[in-house]
Amino acid sequence: MCQVDEAYHDDLEQEKVSSVSKKCVKCKETIAVVAIRAGDQYCRDCFEQYFLHKFRATLGKNRVIFPGEKGLSQNAHKKLRFVPGIVYIDEGGALNRSMEERRQTVAKLKDIFIATGFPFHIVPLEEVLDVPGSVLAMAPSSSPTQASSDKASVDRFFCNNSCSCLTPEQQQQQQHETSSLYVEESQTQLLQQLLDSSKTLTTKAELVSVLRQHLLVHTARCEGYSKLMFGDNCTRLAVKLLISISLGRGAQLAQDTSFSDSRYGDIISLRPMRNYSAKEIAYYNHIFNVPSVFTPNLHTKSKEKASIQCLTESFVTKLQVDFPSTVSTIYRTSEKLQTTCKSSSSANPCDRCLLCMCSLDTAVENASAFQSTLISERLCQTKCVGANSASFPSQNTELRGPSTQCCSKGKGEYCDRPMEDRGCCSGVRVPDTTDIRGLLCYSCQLTIKDMSSVDCLPQYILSEAQIRQRRSRMREEISDFLLD
Ligand SMILES: [Zn+2]
Ligand SMILES: [Zn+2]
Repeated sequence: MCQVDEAYHDDLEQEKVSSVSKKCVKCKETIAVVAIRAGDQYCRDCFEQYFLHKFRATLGKNRVIFPGEKGLSQNAHKKLRFVPGIVYIDEGGALNRSMEERRQTVAKLKDIFIATGFPFHIVPLEEVLDVPGSVLAMAPSSSPTQASSDKASVDRFFCNNSCSCLTPEQQQQQQHETSSLYVEESQTQLLQQLLDSSKTLTTKAELVSVLRQHLLVHTARCEGYSKLMFGDNCTRLAVKLLISISLGRGAQLAQDTSFSDSRYGDIISLRPMRNYSAKEIAYYNHIFNVPSVFTPNLHTKSKEKASIQCLTESFVTKLQVDFPSTVSTIYRTSEKLQTTCKSSSSANPCDRCLLCMCSLDTAVENASAFQSTLISERLCQTKCVGANSASFPSQNTELRGPSTQCCSKGKGEYCDRPMEDRGCCSGVRVPDTTDIRGLLCYSCQLTIKDMSSVDCLPQYILSEAQIRQRRSRMREEISDFLLD
């Protein structure tokens, strides 16, 4: 036994010594400084080339932005056919961080952004409470008002950034003034109220992610950008894939993890870093001294089992330590995924989930797991109400109380029309949970189900829900006269 152990130990020692003195696999001259995986050692220069080439190759191969374009580095960005900008969504409000802490983080980030020379936008998450309902509509690029306002903002964008009348210092100064973090306290409270209404950290994180996505799309539209590039690397995507499965997003897996995602129509989301592992990026940042700022999120300092997201991440990263091909195996599976649902360009907005904007996966045949869940849920609710309505209030009675109250009468009063007649109120009526759930995909239904009340949802979501409900009711009424 001892001999075997010793022999194994010797092997390890030898391996260590040899890998240190190994030469770069590319130029075969310089001593390697990075070993990405066994047999893949690079010197500093070759690693930089390899790293940059991978980024260009990903964009070039997918032909989404600039077919044939060659240079993509900080110095060459003026030659590009697209102008990159940076968006930072400050989520401090969701984490109960003080305004002072948030400003400090933003100030550090701002210095880094200014140094890149790219235009940047710092947006607090609270701003999502004020976005228009149109953010939830799939905007075709042909919409004239949208197009003209987009064009105006593009013009403004180019004027701001390439006006010869402004020196770089003046441009920086201008940006400095427009990107200061300003949040009203009442808005932060509203956001916290919304997040506190969800019972688990899992749904809280899902809500934040949905809101962030909406705000990013809104910012992109306002500032005249057509693409959103995310920094998701393959480690993160592997984790995301398993999280999505655990959260019931099987039908949306392909869209959630693919290179390009067009669920918003005019704004395409891209993941150009998806071929890098977290390790490669960490090496690059370390070797080339890329500045970084630590920004906490909902899962910072939380326990391993605090949420599905945390648990999945620790599962994958722990497995990866002993089985180095874990991430790449999961990740390669994600590349092969395709959505079998209706085409993603479906014109009817009612076919899309109100929150995540993916095609609805809830129109399935009766003999499905989803329908069985619904049936048992309904049975359970009936039983609970029948048994003891005081200790088990059904979601319906709990939420319908204030929400169906007529706008023209005082609190607790209802107009003469029957309750079923939803048309009695002309004002804003908060749709109840059951109403909203019909507009959501399976996974988002679970998110909403976990919330104590939907009243805290931002106004743009509630009003879009009303519009869709009205539209589908109208469609039902005239369905006999419609041609296919
Ligand atoms: Zn080399
Ligand atoms: Zn959804």
